Amino acid sequence: MSAPPPSAGRLFLVSNRLPVTLSEGENGLEATLSAGGLATGLVGLHQESGGGWIGWPGLTTADGTLSTEVQEALRARDLIGVGLSEEEHRGYYQKLSNQCIWPLFHYFKERMHYDDDDWEQYVAINRRFADAVLAEVQDEDVVFVQDFHLMLLPAMLREARPNLRIGFFLHIPFPSSEVFRIFPRREELLRGVLGADYIAFHTMGYLRHFRSSVCHLLGLETRTSSIDLGDRSVRLDSRPLPIDGWRWGPGSEEDEQKIADYQQELAEMADGRQLVLGVERMDYTKGIPERLLAVKDFLAEDPSRVDRMFMVQVAVPSRAEVDDYRELKDEVDRLAGSINSEFGRPGRLPLHYLYQSVPPWQLRALYRSADVALVTPLRDGLNLVAKEYVASRLDNDGALVLGESTGAAWELGEALRVNPYDPDAMCRALGHALDMPKDEQIARMAPMRERVLDNDIEKWARGCLHAIRRSHRVGPAPAPLGVDARQELLENWQRGTAPAILLLDYDGTLQPFAQRPEGAVPDPELLSLLRRLAQLPQVEPWVVSGRPPQVLDEWLGATGVGFVAEHGAYLRNPGAKEFQSLLDNDALTWRDDVRPILERFVGHVPGSLIEEKAVGLAWHYREADPVLGAWQARELFQHLTELLPDQGVQVMRGNKVIEVRPASVSKGMSSRRILKALDPAKDRFLLAAGDDITDESLFRMLPDSAWTLLVGSRKSQARFRLENPAELRALLTWLADCPPPAPTAASSQAAGSADRS
Ligand code: UDP
Repeated sequence: MSAPPPSAGRLFLVSNRLPVTLSEGENGLEATLSAGGLATGLVGLHQESGGGWIGWPGLTTADGTLSTEVQEALRARDLIGVGLSEEEHRGYYQKLSNQCIWPLFHYFKERMHYDDDDWEQYVAINRRFADAVLAEVQDEDVVFVQDFHLMLLPAMLREARPNLRIGFFLHIPFPSSEVFRIFPRREELLRGVLGADYIAFHTMGYLRHFRSSVCHLLGLETRTSSIDLGDRSVRLDSRPLPIDGWRWGPGSEEDEQKIADYQQELAEMADGRQLVLGVERMDYTKGIPERLLAVKDFLAEDPSRVDRMFMVQVAVPSRAEVDDYRELKDEVDRLAGSINSEFGRPGRLPLHYLYQSVPPWQLRALYRSADVALVTPLRDGLNLVAKEYVASRLDNDGALVLGESTGAAWELGEALRVNPYDPDAMCRALGHALDMPKDEQIARMAPMRERVLDNDIEKWARGCLHAIRRSHRVGPAPAPLGVDARQELLENWQRGTAPAILLLDYDGTLQPFAQRPEGAVPDPELLSLLRRLAQLPQVEPWVVSGRPPQVLDEWLGATGVGFVAEHGAYLRNPGAKEFQSLLDNDALTWRDDVRPILERFVGHVPGSLIEEKAVGLAWHYREADPVLGAWQARELFQHLTELLPDQGVQVMRGNKVIEVRPASVSKGMSSRRILKALDPAKDRFLLAAGDDITDESLFRMLPDSAWTLLVGSRKSQARFRLENPAELRALLTWLADCPPPAPTAASSQAAGSADRS
C-alpha cells in the first residue's frame, strides 16, 4: 500500500542559512538546531504544520550537492538542505548578497561591488532554492521566504505554481528609491519579490520606500498597503521582528550563577564607575568607529570622566574574509588602543574592548550590568541588541541611547534618539544617559520594556502566516465567458418575464479608450447597436458612465437608452429628455480647494489634463509619460486623501485617472435606484458590464444571479470576463438578434402598470 499523500496547507520556511549545526554524534552525523531568534519562533510552526525549513546547512562541497548522510541528518529535524559549492557560495552569498545588496540597502553605495558573474550566480542559486522548494510543496502550501539573499525566489515559485501562498520578509532596510535605483538589476529584484502574496518589512518607512521604488521603476500603481498587478494583488505590511522576551528574564539556577559571577567581575573592573555598553557584529553599518570617536571626544571634553564611566565594547567577528571588514577591524583596534593610551592610567582603563563572540549568559550579564547601552548603528534594519537590553532590565532602569536610523527606533520612542553621524549630539546623549535620574530612567524604560515583552516571536510568526494565507486570492481574474455560460446567458435572456436590464459602462467597455477623453466618440456601429437594444420591447439598456450628462446626451441621447451620468450623480430614464440630480446642494463645496491642486499637477506632468464634470473633478494622465504619470498619480492620490478626510468626498482611481467626487455617489448606488423602481417579484434578466474600479460598486450591488461582466483582465467582483469592447459588442449584437419574446398585450399592460414606480 502506498503512503497517503502529504496534506496540503503546510508551512515551508526558506532562508539562506538553516538554523542548524552539523556534528558527528554517537550514531553518525547529527543536526542540532540553533536556539533563539527566528529559529525558535518559526521551528514550532513548520513542524506542527507538517512542513519543513529549506536552506543551506553551512558547509560547502566540491560539486555543490549534499551527501545522503547530510540530507538524512537534516530530514530528521524537518530540515531540507540546499547544497552550495565554494565558488557558488562566494558569488551568490559573499559577493552579490553581502558586498552588493547589503551595502546598498544600508545606504553605503560606495561599498557596493556589482559584477555580472556574481549576479548570474545569485540567479542560479535562487533557482536552485526554487527547485528545492518545488520538490516539496503542493498547491495549498505556504512558503515563507526570508531576506535579501532570496529576492528572486517568490517570482520563480509563482511562475511554476501560481496557487502557492507565498510570503516574503526583508530583515534589512529597504532603502529610499533614490538609492535603490542604483542597483543595476533593480527591476529584476522588484519583480522577484512581487511574486509573493504578502511582503513585510520591519518599518512603515521601508514599506513606503519599496512602494515608491515599484511605482518609479516598474510604473505600477500602488496603494497604501497593496500593489495591484492586474491579475492579482500583493499585500504590503510592516511587522517588526520581536525578540524572545523570556530568554532575557531570570534564567536557570546554573545560568544565574554564571551571570552573577560575571557581573561581579564587571563590577570589579568598573570599580565604582558607571558601565557603558556597546555590542554588535564588526560591521561598518554599526557605527563602531563613530561611537568610539564620540567617546574619545566625551573624555577629551572632561578627562575626569574617566573616573565616572567605564565602557565595554563587544565586537563580534563578522565577514572577516572581506577587505572592507578587515580594514574596519584595524581601524577599531587602533581607536580602542588610542582611547586607553590617551585617557587611561595603570589600573584604570576607560575601555574594555572584546573582539569576540560572547556566550548568551555573558551577554545577559553585560545587559544587566550596563547603566547605559550605546546602540548607535549608522543604519540598521531593526537592531535586536536594543530590544534585548530593554528586555534585560528587570528593574526597569538603565538608559538606552539609540541611533535614529535603526528600525528599532520606530518602536522604542522613549530611548534617547541620536544622529550617529553627529559627534556633538552623541556626546550630549551620552552625558544625558550617564546623568539620568532613576525616575526618568524608569519612566522611559518601563513602557519600552512592556512593549518589547508584549510581542513574542511566535506571535509574530503566527501573524505572518495568517497574513500570507489571507492575502492570497485564488483565481483573481474572473473566468472568460465560455460557450456553456453564453448558452445559459441566452436562455436567461429569453426567459425573463419582465424587461431585461442592461447596465453598460461606456469608456473601455462599449467603446475603446482614446488618447483624450473627448476622442472616444461613439462610432455608427455602436449607435445602431444601442438603438436596436433600446427599441426591443422587453429590454431596457442603460449607459452607466462617469461622463457628464451633456456629453452622454450629445453622443448617445438619440439612441433612447437610459443614463447614469457622473458615476451616479445624475440619472435619466430611457426615452426621457431631462436628467435628474441625485445630489445634495452643498455637495460641491470642496471643488475650489481641489482645482488648484490638480492644476499644479497638470503643470508638472506634461500631457495630463483636468476634466471638469458637473459633479466631479478628474485628473487624466493617459497621455503622460507612464512612469511619471503613475508616480504623480500616487502622490496626488495620497495628497488628496490626506487633505479631504472630512468633506464627504471620495478620491477614486480609475484607469489612468484620479477623480474626486461626493462620497454618496457611485454607480452601485444609482443602479440600486434603478432596480428599486422595478418590481422585485419579477423574474428579470440583469446584465452589467464594466472595465474599471468604478464599476466594481455596480458588480457588488447586483444580486448573485446577475450577469456581471468585466471587460479586460484583472481581479474583480464580476462573474465573467470578456477580452475587450469588441467582444462585448458582439455579445450584445447576438442578444439583439435573439431577443426575448415580445410580451402579449395583456402581460405588457400588466408589466407597464406595475414594473416602474
Ligand atoms: N549576539 C550573539 N553573540 C554575541 C553578541 C551578540 O549572538 O557575541 C547576538 C545578539 O544577542 C543579537 C544579535 O547577535 O540577537 C545581533 O542582532 P542585531 O539585530 O543587533 O544585529 P545583526 O548582527 O543582525 O545585524
